[in-house]
Amino acid sequence: MLHHAERIAAVQKAADFTEFTPIGPADPIERARHGWRAKCLQRLIRLDMPVPRTVALPCETVRAIAAGTMPDTRRLIAVFGDHPLVTVRPSPENPDWGGPGTVLNVGMNDATHARIAARHGQAAADELYLRFVQSYAIHVARLDPDMFSAPPSATALAAARAAYAAETDEDFPQDPARQLSEVLRSMARAWEGTTARLLRQAKGAPPEAALGLIVQDMALAMGPGLSGTGTIQFVEGVTGTPQITGRFRGMKLGRGPVEETLYLTRDPRGPSLQDAAPDTFATLTAYGAACRKGLREEMQIEFALEGGALKIIDAVKVHRSSRAAVRIAVALANDGVISREDALLRVEPRALSELLHTQVDPRAPRDVCARGIAASPGAATGRIVFSAAAAQAAAAQDAPAILVRRETSPDDIRGMHASVAVLTERGGVTSHAAVIARGLGLPCIVGASDLRINTRDRSMTAPDGRVFAEGDTITVDGTSGEVLAGAAEMLEPALDEAFRTLLHWADNVRDIGIRANADTPDDARTARMFEAEGIGLCRTEHMFFDEDRLTVMREMIFADMPKDRKVALDRLLPMQRADFTALFDIMAGLPVCIRLLDPPLHEFLPHDRDGVKELAEALDRPLSEVSRRVEALSEFNPMLGMRGVRLGIAVPEIYEMQARAIFEATVEASRRGAPVVPEIMIPLVSAKREVELVKTRIDAVAAAVRTERAADFTYRLGVMVETPRAALRAGEIAHHSAFLSFGTNDLTQMTYGLSRDDAGRFMGTYVAQGVFPEDPFHTLDRDGVGELLMIGAQRGRATRRDLTLSVCGEHGGNPESIAFCRDLGFDYVSCSPFRVPVARLAAAHFALREPRSTN
Ligand code: PEP
Ligand code: MG
Repeated sequence: MLHHAERIAAVQKAADFTEFTPIGPADPIERARHGWRAKCLQRLIRLDMPVPRTVALPCETVRAIAAGTMPDTRRLIAVFGDHPLVTVRPSPENPDWGGPGTVLNVGMNDATHARIAARHGQAAADELYLRFVQSYAIHVARLDPDMFSAPPSATALAAARAAYAAETDEDFPQDPARQLSEVLRSMARAWEGTTARLLRQAKGAPPEAALGLIVQDMALAMGPGLSGTGTIQFVEGVTGTPQITGRFRGMKLGRGPVEETLYLTRDPRGPSLQDAAPDTFATLTAYGAACRKGLREEMQIEFALEGGALKIIDAVKVHRSSRAAVRIAVALANDGVISREDALLRVEPRALSELLHTQVDPRAPRDVCARGIAASPGAATGRIVFSAAAAQAAAAQDAPAILVRRETSPDDIRGMHASVAVLTERGGVTSHAAVIARGLGLPCIVGASDLRINTRDRSMTAPDGRVFAEGDTITVDGTSGEVLAGAAEMLEPALDEAFRTLLHWADNVRDIGIRANADTPDDARTARMFEAEGIGLCRTEHMFFDEDRLTVMREMIFADMPKDRKVALDRLLPMQRADFTALFDIMAGLPVCIRLLDPPLHEFLPHDRDGVKELAEALDRPLSEVSRRVEALSEFNPMLGMRGVRLGIAVPEIYEMQARAIFEATVEASRRGAPVVPEIMIPLVSAKREVELVKTRIDAVAAAVRTERAADFTYRLGVMVETPRAALRAGEIAHHSAFLSFGTNDLTQMTYGLSRDDAGRFMGTYVAQGVFPEDPFHTLDRDGVGELLMIGAQRGRATRRDLTLSVCGEHGGNPESIAFCRDLGFDYVSCSPFRVPVARLAAAHFALREPRSTN
C-alpha cells in the first residue's frame, strides 16, 4: 500500500489541478478559490495536526458541476484508497454564508459494510450503512424523508434499501465514484437554489458568491480503545471568558454500538475525557492554543478518536455573542496575536448596543404577542400601565411599569422617566417616544400598529386576540421590536474592562468627534460614562417639565403683561441657572452646546379637560378663559408653526432669560472648575435676520452679566440648520455663526414634507416597495437631505473657514450617516448617549478602512 504522501503525489502528477487539489502544507489553496474551510484545514495541516486526507474542489469545479460538467470522480475517489469512505463538506468563501449540509460515509457499499462488520461488529456496520442510505435517499435522490427515518434495528437497513429500490427502480448504488458524483452534484445544485441564494445574500454574500467543496477521509471513531467524536473550544460563547467547553460522545462497541457522553474536563458529575485520556486532552489543549496563535482566532475544534488515535476533522470560529466578540478581540490583541486595529475591525459597531442594555437571553423561549418598530434597544419586564400618572404611581411603589400609549407627548416625559420601557401603537423612529426613550436608555417599541389599545377600559388586544389588562406583565424587547407576554429571562449589560479598552483603541484611530445629546444631569453623566467628547445638543425644553417648573412655565405663557411675564421668568431663571451649572460641572470643561427653547408653547399646556381644569385652579383664572387660551395657542401642525427662533423673536424675554442663566452658570462653574466656553444654538432658523436679531440681544445679555459679575467669559453662538432654507443660505448665516449644527430630524421632515410623527404609518410599505431604500429618519438620505448638508457645509465654510460643522439629529448615531458626515469633513456628530459607543467604534472603522490622505 502506498504511503499517504506518495499516494497524493502520484495522484497529483496525473491530476488536472483545475478540477481538484489534495490539501498538503504547501499546496496552492486560496480562500477566494477554495473557500474558508479548505484554507482553514490547510492551516491545521501546517500546524502539524493530524487532519485526515483531504481534497479541495475549487469554486470553478463546483460551478461546472452545477452546470452539468462532472470532474473525474473516479480519479478523485482514488486519492482515498481502495475502499474509500469519505465526507463531503461545503467551503464557501465566508463561513457565514452557509452552504449545503455535510454528507458522511460516501463510499459505503456492501464490500465496505462487510469489512467494517468484520472489524467492529455487525450492528455498528449496519448503523453506518443505514445512516448513509437514509441521507443519500433524502438529500441526493430527494426521496420522501418519511420513508427513511427509521431508527437503527436489525431490519432497518434492509427495509431502507428496499424502499430505495422501489422508489428509484434501481438497487442502492455500489460504486463509490458514482455515489460521490451524485453527492457533489446535489450539493453544487443546492448552492444555486433560490432560497439558499437569498439567505446568503441577506448575510452580505455577493450575488456571484461561489462554493468550494471538501472531500475528506471519514474518521470512523470506532475501535478497541477510547473512540468517539467531539468538539472542544477554549472560550465560552456567550461571555467570551476563557473556559473549556464542548462535548465528547464516546462510542463503545459491545453487541451493538452504545453512545456515552463524557464531560470534557474533570467533573464530579461523571466521567470525563480529561481523566479517561489525559494525553489526548493535553494534546487538544495544545492544539487549541496553536489554533489561537496560528489562525489568529478562537476556534472550535471538531475531533475524532479512533481507538485512542486523535484526528482533527475540522475547526470553525467559535460561535459568539456580541459581548463575547468584544472580549475575545481584546484578549487576542492584548496577547499580541492580532493588532489593535484588527481587534477593532472584528467587532461590528451596531452589536455594541446590545452590551449597553439588558437583553432577553437569546437561549430562552419567547412568547411573542405583538411586533413594532425597534425604536430603542434593550429589554425590560414590567406591568402594563396606560398613563404617565399610573407609571409614576407604580414607580413610587418600586414596581417596574411599562408605559403603553397610542403615542407619547411631552407631558408623558415624567411617566416615561418612571417606566422601565415604553410601547406605543403609533409613531416611527424619530417620533417623540423613540427620541426620548433613546435618550433615557429605555427600551422602546413604537408603531406597534397591530395592537389595539383601549385607554378607556385600560386594556390592549394583541393581533392573536389575547387581551392584556393594566397590571399584566409583559416584556418589551426594544432590540428586536417584539413584545413578549410575561417575564423573559434576561442577560445583564456588559460594560466591562474589555468594552472600555476597545473603545479607547477606537478613540485613538477615529478622525471625527463624537458628542452626546444630553438634556439633564443624568443624561450628562451617561454621556461621560460613555466618554462622549461633549454635549452636542441640550434640548432645554426638557428642563421645564418637572412639576414645580411646569406651573411657572405656564404662568409665563399665560402672562398678559410683560411685567407679569418677567415675574414668571425671574422664577425660572435660578432653576435654569442651576440646570446649566450642573451640566457644566459634570462635563468639566468639555464643550456643552445649549439649544434655546424650541417647541411651540402649547406643548407645555394640558390637552385634556381635567388638565385644563387643574391649570385654571393653579392659575386662579376662570376655566373658560384658560380653555380659550389653550385653544388659541394650539396649532394644526405643531412642527411648523410658532416655535424655535420664531418664538425667540416673538417673545424675546424667554431667550434672554435662558442666555442669562447660561452666562451666570458659566461664571459660577468656571470659578469652581475648568473654564467653560458655552455654545448657544438657535433652533429652526431660516433667515439671516433671525440670527442677527437674536445675536444682538444675547450679546447684550453677555455684556450685562460680565459687568454685574465682574467676570470675563467668551461664548460661541451657532445656528441649528434644520430648514432647507437655512442650508441653502448657509453662506450668509455663517457670517454670524461660529458653528452650524444640522438638525437632520427636522431637516428630513421638511425636505420630504413628511411629518416625523406620522411617518411610521406607511414607512413599512414604502420601504417594502422600494419607494425609499430605507427609512430616511433612520439612515440619512444622502441624495436629498445629504445634498442639503453638502451645500450648507460648502457655503458655510466658504464664508468662514473655521466654521464648526456637526450633525445633532438622530442620524448622528447611525454608522452610515457618520461615514457621510466624515466624508463631508464635519467636525463631530452628536447622538443619544447610549449610541455614543456605537458611534465611536463605527468612526474608527471608517478611519481604518478609508484613511484620510494627510495632505
Ligand atoms: C433635529 O431636528 O434634528 C433635532 C435634533 O431637533 P429635535 O429633534 O429636538 O427637533
Ligand atoms: Mg429639530
